[in-house]
Amino acid sequence: MDRTGAQAPRGTPPDAAGNELVHARQVRATGAVQGVGFRPFVHGLATALGLAGHVRNDSEGVDILVEGPLSSLELFLARLVDDAPPLALVERVVVMAAEPTGAADFTIVHSESGPRPNTLVTADAATCRDCSRELLDPRDRRHRYPFINCTNCGPRFTIITSVPYDRPHTTMAGFEMCPACRAEYDDPGDRRFHAQPNACSECGPRLSFRATGDPVPAAYGGDALAQAVAVLRDGGIVAVKGLGGYHLACDATNEASVQTLRRRKHRDERPFAVMAAGVDDVARYCVVTPADEALLASSRRPVVLLERLAPFLDASPHLAPTVAPDVTTYGLFLPYTPLHQLLLHDVGRPLVMTSGNVSDEPIAFRDDDAHSRLTPLADAFLGHDRPIHMRTDDSVARTFRGEHYLLRRARGWAPLPVTFSGADHGILAVGGHLKNTFALTRRDHAFVSHHIGDLENLETLRSLEQGVAHFQRLFALDPRVVTHDLHPDYLSTRFARSFAEERGLPTVAVQHHEAHIASVLADAGHSGPVVGVAFDGAGYGPDGTIWGGELFVGSPGNFERVAHLDRLAMPGGETAVREPWRLALSLLEHCGMAPEPGQETLPPHLQVLPGAAGILSRPWRLVLRALRSGVNAPPTSSAGRLFDAVSSLLGLRYEAGYEGQAAIALETAARRHYASAGLPEPDEAPGWIVHLAEPPVSPGTVTPSVLPIAPIGHAVVVDAVAGLPTPAIAARFHHALAWITAAAAERAATAHGLDTVALSGGVFQNMLLLELLATQLEYRGLRVLVHRKVPTNDGGLCLGQAETAAALLRSGRLAPGAPR
Ligand code: ZN
Ligand code: ZN
Ligand code: FE
Repeated sequence: MDRTGAQAPRGTPPDAAGNELVHARQVRATGAVQGVGFRPFVHGLATALGLAGHVRNDSEGVDILVEGPLSSLELFLARLVDDAPPLALVERVVVMAAEPTGAADFTIVHSESGPRPNTLVTADAATCRDCSRELLDPRDRRHRYPFINCTNCGPRFTIITSVPYDRPHTTMAGFEMCPACRAEYDDPGDRRFHAQPNACSECGPRLSFRATGDPVPAAYGGDALAQAVAVLRDGGIVAVKGLGGYHLACDATNEASVQTLRRRKHRDERPFAVMAAGVDDVARYCVVTPADEALLASSRRPVVLLERLAPFLDASPHLAPTVAPDVTTYGLFLPYTPLHQLLLHDVGRPLVMTSGNVSDEPIAFRDDDAHSRLTPLADAFLGHDRPIHMRTDDSVARTFRGEHYLLRRARGWAPLPVTFSGADHGILAVGGHLKNTFALTRRDHAFVSHHIGDLENLETLRSLEQGVAHFQRLFALDPRVVTHDLHPDYLSTRFARSFAEERGLPTVAVQHHEAHIASVLADAGHSGPVVGVAFDGAGYGPDGTIWGGELFVGSPGNFERVAHLDRLAMPGGETAVREPWRLALSLLEHCGMAPEPGQETLPPHLQVLPGAAGILSRPWRLVLRALRSGVNAPPTSSAGRLFDAVSSLLGLRYEAGYEGQAAIALETAARRHYASAGLPEPDEAPGWIVHLAEPPVSPGTVTPSVLPIAPIGHAVVVDAVAGLPTPAIAARFHHALAWITAAAAERAATAHGLDTVALSGGVFQNMLLLELLATQLEYRGLRVLVHRKVPTNDGGLCLGQAETAAALLRSGRLAPGAPR
């Protein structure tokens, strides 16, 4: 936060009558200051200090004229920032001397629509303590009113249609306040003063319930809630309209219900998010550290991934088994709207709350669309008549070393900007293909969008296009440069090109993994140079191969690939991602251990491999032939694919229902080992690392060095043949990979005179690998940068693209397009 402005004249003496002379100050506050109770706060503060003047919202922020004795003015200015309301994010305060107007009191002036909105629209905030208390207080006039909110809480981003943030510019525009609500709204002393979504059961939105197939709702208000609760308690599935879209809800302790939901949703084995009434309910199933508790209960209220209690014991406390098959974590969150609070309270059990969609479609948020799309999935609908303007999914996070580590940045964070290195010209960064997000920038603010989704259908692409247009309007952003992934065929790349072409703007393609490292640098506020380790699923490389296990040296816009994991062929291309057994066979071939042509099976000593039977029961001869002829078997240096190969070699997963499932199985197996053995000491060499060559990585080397993977394949086989349990081998694999990576990063750092290593890419959602590698690097005296504000997966890509384009603009290597 900056505080700038003219120096105040000091030491003005009291006048002859002993009254202090009246001074005036013009104060401009910018940041997230609208819709967060900032004007009422200013009004209260000024009034308490006996100051006169006014405050108003305008398109640039909050404008204050305040006058009175100098001593009170100074107190006012000090407390303006220090005591700001919880949701306010005051970025800048400019104070100027002004002429006193002789005003008698302090007033709030109505908003003026300016031509250039420049304020930070705030994120949706979970129900605050005061509102929760009133919700459950039988004497309160909003007792059990499911849309209770105040200036400190409630819907924001999801209901704003335009700026400045005032009721007519929200989806509450159609609700006229009753006299009681209006009185609160107009009373500067009330905690609902100018709370834009303010409402009550007399005048505000109301619930409706209908059984699926009924043409009209069967019940409204409290009756609607009661009927939905009855369906849920009976094991039914209810589509519940929330803040940013519809959820599908069912009893998370009822296995039959959860199985039905999975079947109807065509959902693979990906874990479902579960909402629990409070932290105590979460702690019945999971380990909750103080950092986890703070994240769970924060006003952003993400789904938090938590380690289950005693996951490897048969008697571990658990929800219905198909809530989260084969993983050691649960994704849990707390109610974030009054409706959720009432539902959880009345049902009395944790509820699965998963996005209202079929498999990979975007979450439904418009009522008519929700009814048609969710009718085959839900037994009933619990809706309401407050429209959702912006589709927004739940955010997903976990904690790493006591701080939050975002895996999906959406509700609660969007659309707050992330500060990055910045450029004088605006940038549109369209992100990648999977877990798409985009960013639009102004100076050093990157407005990173909510999670858009996988760009695999037109509906999601439309979300991207509409999201960009909405952000442009909301924040008056006019990009002069467009940046996208190097992959020529991504839908995001095509969108970027047509967007740029229509406006005559230049485009910049940024290599996927360079964007990942630029992203973590922007996230950490580090300008480089650093050693960057990008361990990822896949990204298009400029040499035509698929990258994903990369070591770079340099800064955004100026990275040199100094090393990469050795390449593994992917027989069948993308099919190999869904069928990791192909990669296991490929790794055997890579190590020279696959059957010779004409051999009918694996050599006898390899038949004891845990994965042998699974591989041999699949069309392995065909795949081996493809591998040897090189037809449709593109090489990849992807770390994610190496995890897949080893997972399958160990018989953990032959097919993957969702991205990363085989890798997660390998991580889970390793955790099982470490749960009893404990994590290795930082100086403890892994069981089979000694014979892995450390690569030479020196400045000016033309060809990047190769981190061999054949020794890893060999070691897995040797251990398995020796009868080592699978969890121990999985643990050794994690340990060894961390070890060779840390060694390579250390050598690169030494050769280039660097002391910092930045980690990014989807593989670092594996918290075991992250912990082992970070510990290794720190043990070697290196500083480690990890993601915090944006995800390490492709959800963080847009920020890295923007950071790269900004560096190119600043250095003059990229010229901005002309303003329109
Ligand atoms: Zn509140
Ligand atoms: Zn009312
Ligand atoms: Fe990626």
